[in-house]
Amino acid sequence: MKKNGSNSHKKLVLNNGANKIKKHLMEQNLIISNINDFIFCPRSIYFHNLYGNYDEHLYHNTSQVQGRISHKTIDEKKYTTRKAMLQGIDIYSEELGVIGKIDLFDMEQGILTERKNKITVVYDGYLLQIYSQYFCLIEMGYIVKVIRFYSISDNKVYTVDIPSKKEKEWLLDILSKVRQFQLQDKSFFQNKNKCIKCIYNQLCDYYNDD
Ligand code: SF4
Repeated sequence: MKKNGSNSHKKLVLNNGANKIKKHLMEQNLIISNINDFIFCPRSIYFHNLYGNYDEHLYHNTSQVQGRISHKTIDEKKYTTRKAMLQGIDIYSEELGVIGKIDLFDMEQGILTERKNKITVVYDGYLLQIYSQYFCLIEMGYIVKVIRFYSISDNKVYTVDIPSKKEKEWLLDILSKVRQFQLQDKSFFQNKNKCIKCIYNQLCDYYNDD
């Protein structure tokens, strides 16, 4: 397979951005969507931050682009005009040190919904994301009774338990690991099965498709 750049070029790009991103991760609030990246692969969080503002079609596969379009509808607040339904609002938790957005929150019913294009498994990264959203909303003074995922393509709903103390400790532990991870971490080794599916593999110096 033809690669977009040499390993030395990839390393240069990464090193140029890594220190800046590390500073951002350490000193500023974490972005909730980065938690899912981190669970998939800690290195991918750097690519997400490095390339997050660039043309998404350059590195997103089709299903991910579809997912983004689904979310765009939410972000542009086209999904519903019901006043009790909050859509795409900014959320924040001082306690967790995270910021982000929710998809949908029905204030009347207390139902928080995170939409994904297609859900086959409720991955840990998904759970940690929605737990973060939950704790943000609670801290912001909302009452959340139900948290759930909605799989758009097959119209399936996955309701998950409200996080307990145990889940909160898990989330805090992962957030701490995100803050501590360093791109130069010598103990890191990649999972080749994930690398093959990784949308950033053409940018990553760890990827080898030989
Ligand atoms: S290519 Fe592999 S090591 Fe690199 S970011 Fe993706 S999953 Fe991680």
